[in-house]
Amino acid sequence: MSDAAVRETKSTCPYCGVGCGVIIESRREQIIGVRGDSDHPANFGRQCSKGSTLHLTATPEVIAQTRLLQPMQRLQRGAAPQPLGWDAALDLAATRFADTIRTHGPDAVGFYVSGQLLTEDYYVFNKLAKGLIGTNNIDTNSRLCMSSAVAGYKQTLGADAPPACYEDVDHADCLFIAGSNAAWAHPILFRRIEEAKKKRPGLKIVVVDPRRTDTAGTADLFVQIQPGTDVALFNGMLHLMLWEGWTDSNYISTRTRGFEELKATVRDYTPDMVVQTCGIAKETLYEAARLFATSKATLSLYCQGLNQSSSGTAKNAALINLHLATGQIGKPGAGPFSLTGQPNAMGGREVGGLANLLSAHRDLANPQHRAEVAALWGVPTVPEKPGKTAVEMFQAAADGEIKALWIACTNPAQSMPDLATVRRALERAEFVVVQEAFATPTTCDYADLLLPASTWGEKDGTVTNSERRISRVRPAVPAPGEARHDWQIGVDFARRLEALGIGPRTGLFAYETPEAVWNEHRASTRGRDLDITGMSYAQIERAPQQWPCPADPASGGKTNGNATASPASAPVVGKKRLYEDGIFPTDDGRARFANTVYQPVAEPRESRYPFALTTGRLRDQWHGMSRTGTLGRLFGHVAEPCVQMSPGDMTRRGFTEGELVHVTSKRGSILVPLQASEELASGQAFMAMHWGAEYLSGMSSAGLPLAGVNALTTSAFCPSSKQPELKHAAVKILKAELPWTLLAMAWLPAERALAAREALRRLMVRFPFASCVPFGNAAPLDGSGGAQRTGVLFRAAAHEAVPDELLAEIEQLLGLDAAGTLRYADRKRGQHRAARLQREGEQTTLQAVLLAGDTRAEAWIRSLLQQELPAQSYGRLLLLPGAQAPVAVPARSRQVCTCFNVSENTIEATLASCSGSESQRLSALQQTLKCGTNCGSCVPELQRLVRRVVPLKQAA
Ligand code: SF4
Repeated sequence: MSDAAVRETKSTCPYCGVGCGVIIESRREQIIGVRGDSDHPANFGRQCSKGSTLHLTATPEVIAQTRLLQPMQRLQRGAAPQPLGWDAALDLAATRFADTIRTHGPDAVGFYVSGQLLTEDYYVFNKLAKGLIGTNNIDTNSRLCMSSAVAGYKQTLGADAPPACYEDVDHADCLFIAGSNAAWAHPILFRRIEEAKKKRPGLKIVVVDPRRTDTAGTADLFVQIQPGTDVALFNGMLHLMLWEGWTDSNYISTRTRGFEELKATVRDYTPDMVVQTCGIAKETLYEAARLFATSKATLSLYCQGLNQSSSGTAKNAALINLHLATGQIGKPGAGPFSLTGQPNAMGGREVGGLANLLSAHRDLANPQHRAEVAALWGVPTVPEKPGKTAVEMFQAAADGEIKALWIACTNPAQSMPDLATVRRALERAEFVVVQEAFATPTTCDYADLLLPASTWGEKDGTVTNSERRISRVRPAVPAPGEARHDWQIGVDFARRLEALGIGPRTGLFAYETPEAVWNEHRASTRGRDLDITGMSYAQIERAPQQWPCPADPASGGKTNGNATASPASAPVVGKKRLYEDGIFPTDDGRARFANTVYQPVAEPRESRYPFALTTGRLRDQWHGMSRTGTLGRLFGHVAEPCVQMSPGDMTRRGFTEGELVHVTSKRGSILVPLQASEELASGQAFMAMHWGAEYLSGMSSAGLPLAGVNALTTSAFCPSSKQPELKHAAVKILKAELPWTLLAMAWLPAERALAAREALRRLMVRFPFASCVPFGNAAPLDGSGGAQRTGVLFRAAAHEAVPDELLAEIEQLLGLDAAGTLRYADRKRGQHRAARLQREGEQTTLQAVLLAGDTRAEAWIRSLLQQELPAQSYGRLLLLPGAQAPVAVPARSRQVCTCFNVSENTIEATLASCSGSESQRLSALQQTLKCGTNCGSCVPELQRLVRRVVPLKQAA
């Protein structure tokens, strides 16, 4: 291979729990491309809009502007961090943690880690906390994601094991999707659902959700419940199933226990009671129960709508009750199937990386399990006292109980609920270590010590996806700068603690490779429900495998199989589907019905807070957007932060599209533009979970920085799973009076754009409201249509004009200080304009603009800039407040297809001339514009547009 040859490395996508296999293309030490791995059973070569742009998040320009490249120490809170060497950084961390442990005891420290970590990283940090330091204060952002699913499975089926697999979609006769917008959150699984429906139109899809999402758009039956009423719905369905004789009495009597108690409970869930509670029609309730119970095979798919709730465990268990009562489990196409949000929430659960778990699905509360793990690790004991879960950990830090915090690969200052408390915790903690790949998350601002970590494309280890499939994550390039692997950082820190006399003995962390860590994890699973003693690293690399996969399958997992690696060529047989024998991992082999009772949301709407705010994902963004937020092209679908409400509520309250509103809960208040959404019922509001202080901020009248959507959410949590209710908060929405507005935007060179955005972000707190996002030109991913371009858009509002110096700072960052920039200013009226045009050959285009004081001309000026339209004839009009364009500038509407840069307007215009059936019109549209023919993420939206746009002939 020549020096410049393209290398190909098989790995896994780092975003969602679908766990798609990818092939990374790299040249020398740079990632240059990515494509789906056609051999990987999770995606068979497909990728969604996020996965297919992964390589663009790893360009040298993005790395230089966003990555943390060396350890940094902040000598004083609020000051800029200073670089230091790895040895000094780890010595400092070890000394500060050791001092805290000696002075205040092991429970004075806490580790908050992440479902983004690999299994090996997780294993090391879990052992470090519980085995070496002697505290169970280790929890993870998976607590915000999956802990209700864990608790629900354990309460009913006896073990935290999703029993179904992706292939079950192909065998199901009814898909019951509850609390999941899979079309956006698990796109490649959704492609499989679309395919199944196309092949078998008789497949029924039922969607339960308070919002009419793109997923709901594909449903045969949409059950639009009031937020948080899922348990009432599921119990009501069981009531009807009993009444109609749709339950499987043989399965109930031979495979389960506890049905009589549940039966007595659901007697009260009459159709009248349920339709009133859930806000649905009786026919809808009846049809949902009928389809679930009487279909030959019913597969339920569920996610955060059930999990992120103050009764999350009950919601999970109530749904599993339905599967047990109807025998819809343990057969092809049937079973409860929780979809994991994060790429390795499952791996974290497997190694026991939560405050209440231990390695290999063992329970901290179980003395025998503690003894087993202590023996495995070679330590005298594992502490008995339960650790602090996510919300409890930050509360304890805010109260001064936890004094040293180690945060790895997650951004709690953006993603935790009730951010005021989280920020108090980060400020009060005496020592905060943040181990991160990116320098941009808000949590980094609170770190005393920043440790640079490797990330996708560089990391080496394993992850487990939603269907229990373990895949290899492999490095295509070395980590940049001085970044190190997360497991290595943990091991180096642990060895230093050992040297300082912390822990029962030395030598607990004698790992030199991630495989050595994984082998120890594998040994810990022997005889457990997730036994993986029959797999090796080499075998997973050859073919990703599902657990359980014991060395001796005949032992049914109760094996003493040798954990020595099997040869790579040896066949591996993981288990596709669980409980096909009707035997569950409980004392007597029977599943348990949970006696689930409906509890309303923790914070019901009331006259002072009349709206139910829910949060959720966007199609093209991931979590706090440290990675997806580096790509302007991924802001084409949803360009800027907003809060949505129903058009009817907007009319009733006299609100208009785009105006600024205060959204206020009992915990905080934010300012954000308003958008109408047909997806919402009256009384509901929605805001994407991604919008944190990195993109949306400002300064409240009380002088406090605004912190994004989670300033509003509640930390009320489920008593069993301790998962907070991120899906519901009661809010009020009021008009904001900020008459002075500003819009500034510019195309910038790739090596400057993200740094400029980051610098502009720091200016956001100088305004009562501000947002700052990148935008892009979405050039084709194969490079056939020119270079990717990135721009930055800054928006702000204030009571009156801001000082000229602040405007000058913004102009300088956007290149509006260059010679030849056109200007206009009327200080008395608070008006300020600047525009930079660029001539290339015959063409003059607008490259940067700032409108301050009056932004009424935004629509056409923004179109001119973003679409790079000829601008020579607009000249001075760009500077006139409120000026209209002399000729109509084609409006740029929302981008629907990211791969081929196709906008909503273009799709609507094309559809108007397409006739025939819905599927004929969709394929005509796809043939004409190519939209939806690459990653497919926009297909549900295209289908919605097909239904909405009437063909011209028909309309005539
Ligand atoms: Fe990645 Fe998309 Fe696959 Fe999820 S569905 S793993 S985000 S490519």
